[in-house]
Amino acid sequence: MGDGGVGGSGSGSSSGGGSGSSSSSGGSSGGGSGGGSGGSGRGRRAGRETRAKDIDAYREKRDFASTPEPPPDRSTEGPGDGERDARPVFVVHRHDARRLHYDLRLEMDGVLTSWAVPRGFCYDPAEKRLAVRTEDHPMEYEHFHGVIPPGQYGAGTMTIWDRGRYEILQADTGRRALASGEVKVLLSGRRLRGEWHLVRTDVEADHWLLFKSRDLYAGPPRDSVLGVDLSAALERALPRTVRLAEAAGEALLGDPGWVHEMSFAGRRLPAEKQGDVVRLRGLRRSLSKHPQLHDELAALRASTALLDGVLVALDPAGRPCPETLERRLAGEADGPLCYYAFDLLHWDDFDLRPLPLRDRKSALRAILPVGATALLYVDHVAGDGAALLEAVADAGLPGMISRRVDAPYPSGRSADWAFTGVDDRDPEVAAAPGTTRSAPRAATVGEALAERARGRRQTVRVTHPAKIFWPAEGFTKADLVGYYDRIAETLLPYLADRPVHMNRFPDGIEGESFYQRQAYHPLPDWVETEPVASSRSAEPIPHVVCGSRATLLWMANLGSIDLHPWLSRRGHLDEPDWALIDLDPKDAPFSDVLAIARATGRLLHGIGLRPVLKTSGKTGLHIVVPLQAGYSYDQSRMFCELVARQVCRELPEIATVERMPASRGGRVYIDFLQNRRSQTVVPPYSVRPVPGASVSTPLHWHELDGDLHPSHFTILGVPSRVEQHGDLFRGALDDPQDLLPALAALEARIRG
Ligand code: MN
Repeated sequence: MGDGGVGGSGSGSSSGGGSGSSSSSGGSSGGGSGGGSGGSGRGRRAGRETRAKDIDAYREKRDFASTPEPPPDRSTEGPGDGERDARPVFVVHRHDARRLHYDLRLEMDGVLTSWAVPRGFCYDPAEKRLAVRTEDHPMEYEHFHGVIPPGQYGAGTMTIWDRGRYEILQADTGRRALASGEVKVLLSGRRLRGEWHLVRTDVEADHWLLFKSRDLYAGPPRDSVLGVDLSAALERALPRTVRLAEAAGEALLGDPGWVHEMSFAGRRLPAEKQGDVVRLRGLRRSLSKHPQLHDELAALRASTALLDGVLVALDPAGRPCPETLERRLAGEADGPLCYYAFDLLHWDDFDLRPLPLRDRKSALRAILPVGATALLYVDHVAGDGAALLEAVADAGLPGMISRRVDAPYPSGRSADWAFTGVDDRDPEVAAAPGTTRSAPRAATVGEALAERARGRRQTVRVTHPAKIFWPAEGFTKADLVGYYDRIAETLLPYLADRPVHMNRFPDGIEGESFYQRQAYHPLPDWVETEPVASSRSAEPIPHVVCGSRATLLWMANLGSIDLHPWLSRRGHLDEPDWALIDLDPKDAPFSDVLAIARATGRLLHGIGLRPVLKTSGKTGLHIVVPLQAGYSYDQSRMFCELVARQVCRELPEIATVERMPASRGGRVYIDFLQNRRSQTVVPPYSVRPVPGASVSTPLHWHELDGDLHPSHFTILGVPSRVEQHGDLFRGALDDPQDLLPALAALEARIRG
């Protein structure tokens, strides 16, 4: 018997329930009995040949016509997921067979060496659990999950419980470690982390003991470090900068969807742990003068962690005191510092910001060292915020933070976080959602809830709200939908009655996208459509018309990051009401765009027009002249072409009407050709699918003189800009203009 004999010769005939169920009863039948220890060290062969032998037992136990499990013969060797990582893979299957057990599989020499662990994993190093060596599985099994039908070997449901990379710690190869009867591994999975031990017993050849080593991950007797589902977390390295959440919402104090926490006066600083190095980001001093806090941060059950929290010093009365904090930080006074942690943004290889708050807080609690006195968990109350606010006031604290329990960690200002100062105490006042500007205040919490329910009657369910749409910023789909919800009142008039094309990014700006003109069924019955005659089809093509907040949010939920309405409205689809001049810089500097926009504005104002101006949201600017009824696309295009050519005459070094990018010579393209039927323009306040989540933003003309860049305007800042400046694009709706006198003036100017 070569390597292939290890644990593999049992017939499995007695065990419809699979290897673990038989082994847990202590018997030697089923998947577990076999050659065991003797075979593994002998007879090294070339990898492929070895593999073929190893897999014989796997093959013999199964009828591949009846089980969905992968046959072993079609694979190549090595990890199957194509990742470039030198470390071998491990996978743990949760095998709900006749008796539930877990199958631990470690990649060794092109096969998955396997153990059935009847009682699963435990982070308490004192807890040693039986692990029964079973037949090697082919590498294809790494990704297998499914239902093994009754009557087949291992009948039951097999799910992937954890998967990741591992390292052998004590020997040069896994096979050698196996032969020695002791396998020490360092696991990097979602649930299983840190160092684990497998030690062969003398009781049965295939009986091993599995237990946790005493490392920083060791802890209470549970089966994973965090105890939360990480499937929505992003696998990536610790970001160097993060944008901290800021409270910008109003909480309903009795709403079960919110939790409430005490707010502490101190310095809000993210706490970072990387290996043995800990620091507070934004604090120039090291924590060496504060060994208690330093050591407790170092004892976090994580190799990498980023916490959100507040650094606090307590005065002699035990109240957080900012003055005391500053003196202690400056070294002018001695005394301890506390860190009140209320969120966990990053843990080991995972960005946790997409997870709902409840899971992030569970995870935070799970990694805090036991018995800590300087690194403290900020607990919360659910529902009854009014009572906590009273308690907060009694304790002399500034107020209370309320957070939506199902929301991802927001980047910057967010309506999902709310601050209530103790001075604002009035538990009978609460605002209706989405109406923070001029919210009619409800008289009671009950009325507020009723009002909220009314406001949400035509709700749009947001699917996958935690999905990351802007990876660099961590903005989620919920952030996109939330932005459109906030801006809907201002944006919707620009969409009214216009066919709209969708540019859909279902997986965010870095995922695949597709352009969609036609409104596909099934549509919600409240989505309006407009049949649009097309030269390409005999039947009119239905287009979506976005006439309501619900439709806007529905489109956002489909991944329509930006919107593409026509330049004309239904009833008059061949008569544009906007004439568009699009300044498109490609590689030209934005300062040139500004200069051209100023020249265009001067020209248009000089011929008696009142154009409006906005950023495209990407790199350019849009200038729109609102038109009175009755002009054709030919007329608006001709007018814009005359304007464009005149500006090019003024600024030949930097402006061009050359369509081919290669021929533009680094100049800004003045595009007038979009003034055509079925062409579109992003409306003001549309988000764009580019890094930064920038927004097409209306501008004052005098802003062209300043330090302006389209990237300054994003989903974070635009709603408050609109509150400050009002809607600067309103002329596009309210101020239709007559082209004929302007055209005459323009021609006179060109001739002159
Ligand atoms: Mn099993």
